[in-house]
Amino acid sequence: MSTNDSNNSAYNDFHLQFIAGEWQKGKDDSTNTNTNPYNGDTLVEIQQATKDQLNEAYDAATQAQEAWAKQTPATRAAVLYKVVNILDQRQEEIVDWLIKESGSTRIKAMVEFGATRAITLEAATFPNRVHGEIRPSNTPGKENFIYREPIGVVAVISPWNFPLHLTQRSIAPALALGNAVVLKPASDTPVTGGLLLAKVFEEAGLPKGLLNVVVGSGSEIGDAIVEHKAPSLVSFTGSTSVGKHIGELANGGEYIKQVALELGGNSPFVVLKDADIEQAVKAAAFGKFLHQGQICIAINRVIVEDEIYDDFVERFLAHVKTLNVGDPNKQDTAVGPIINEKQVKSLKEKIAKAQEEGAKMILSGEIEGQVVPPHIFTEVTREMDLSRNEVFGPLVGIIRAKDEVDALSIANDSMYGLSSAVFTADMQKGLRFARGIRAGMTHINDISVNDESNTPFGGEKNSGIGRFNGEWVLEEFTRTHWISMQNEPREYPF
Ligand code: NAD
Repeated sequence: MSTNDSNNSAYNDFHLQFIAGEWQKGKDDSTNTNTNPYNGDTLVEIQQATKDQLNEAYDAATQAQEAWAKQTPATRAAVLYKVVNILDQRQEEIVDWLIKESGSTRIKAMVEFGATRAITLEAATFPNRVHGEIRPSNTPGKENFIYREPIGVVAVISPWNFPLHLTQRSIAPALALGNAVVLKPASDTPVTGGLLLAKVFEEAGLPKGLLNVVVGSGSEIGDAIVEHKAPSLVSFTGSTSVGKHIGELANGGEYIKQVALELGGNSPFVVLKDADIEQAVKAAAFGKFLHQGQICIAINRVIVEDEIYDDFVERFLAHVKTLNVGDPNKQDTAVGPIINEKQVKSLKEKIAKAQEEGAKMILSGEIEGQVVPPHIFTEVTREMDLSRNEVFGPLVGIIRAKDEVDALSIANDSMYGLSSAVFTADMQKGLRFARGIRAGMTHINDISVNDESNTPFGGEKNSGIGRFNGEWVLEEFTRTHWISMQNEPREYPF
């Protein structure tokens, strides 16, 4: 979409850090070379930030936050609404960056853009939705007020897979609720995971210092961003192993702080014998292969009741064979590139391991560059690596379940508990099954990949702590303060 607004010339310079409201050069001697995962083109070279620059970001955030918290709700909301406008004006430019930086197919980039816009719009309502309470007291003459205040400075660490949305999902509510942010985007996506959003918020008139984006190496600023005195909350989205480390750092160091951890998943997709198989096949393909399977809520295990297993496998194989693989920029590409070579290597190892463990590979294909075509394995058991661990790629194992009870037992046999799905024609059965799953989210007759800005998003077990979206995130990014007022002299026992 284009407008005549002269402000709307493309953002084209992303080699600087955004600290204290200024674009400044990183002072570390290391460089982040940001490349296109499909063709290897260099997109931008970013001189990385030092610990001193991180400290500068925290100082600016701490200072700016006080005045921001005192702004009227309408003032804060107006900035968020302006951000929505700018996102709309720049949709094509943003989608283009998602394709070239994160290897998003055009379909995925549009999904991500929509989710980012939705959470920004939702966040614009937060300044007016947040409220305190008055509670009765058992002490004569006392009134109890529960205030809900901004939490202060929030550290945000985000992953590369849905960089724009998963960063915005933290920073938009944080800012809307009167906080300041220091953000470290993932090394593979410094632009869509941070610098691009900084440009948008700057253009929307967010006061200086409230949003800082620091691009740096893990060894220089990784731990330091968590251990710093300034943040009262660390909002981390990423792998379970790094999340555990962040949790330990946030509570084992000099300063105790709250953590919100959105971690890995191992979503089961269960097809019961009475399901609409054709619809389940289409859902399984989309829920598994969207963004090459690199989504925390992607289908990780397909579990099918014995009676329809062979039929499902045959139809699923036929459907997956029709998917276009390759250039993410093409309108009809379903499966694009994997984010980096390290991930490609890990997928090659998983393919070898699945075969070693006895799974039957019924679909494979040549891996070209970082493009891994869909791989399907059947006769997979719950003990195999494909079932136990998060795949994060376009490989899928199909497990045979004896019956509904067995399917539920397999679905719950995981240390993760993020999302899940069940297909059945019987809604009562679907609801019973869904309620039996130990996960934060379950979708009946749909894919596990769902995220709505007004419903709680988050996981159980090793998938994390906390919930995003709607009123759940209002709690996450504010603190409660009980203030009591003794209106008449109280009688003390001594
Ligand atoms: P990752 O854990 O490797 O990295 C996440 C972020 O943490 C990156 O910004 C990275 O630079 C940073 N990081 C790494 N080590 C750090 C340290 N010591 N201190 C501070 N920061 C550090 O994850 P990833 O590979 O970017 O993303 C994929 C993982 O994220 C998958 O496991 C996926 O399931 C999970 N994920 C979860 C959700 C969710 O909402 N639950 C969403 C998306 C991705």
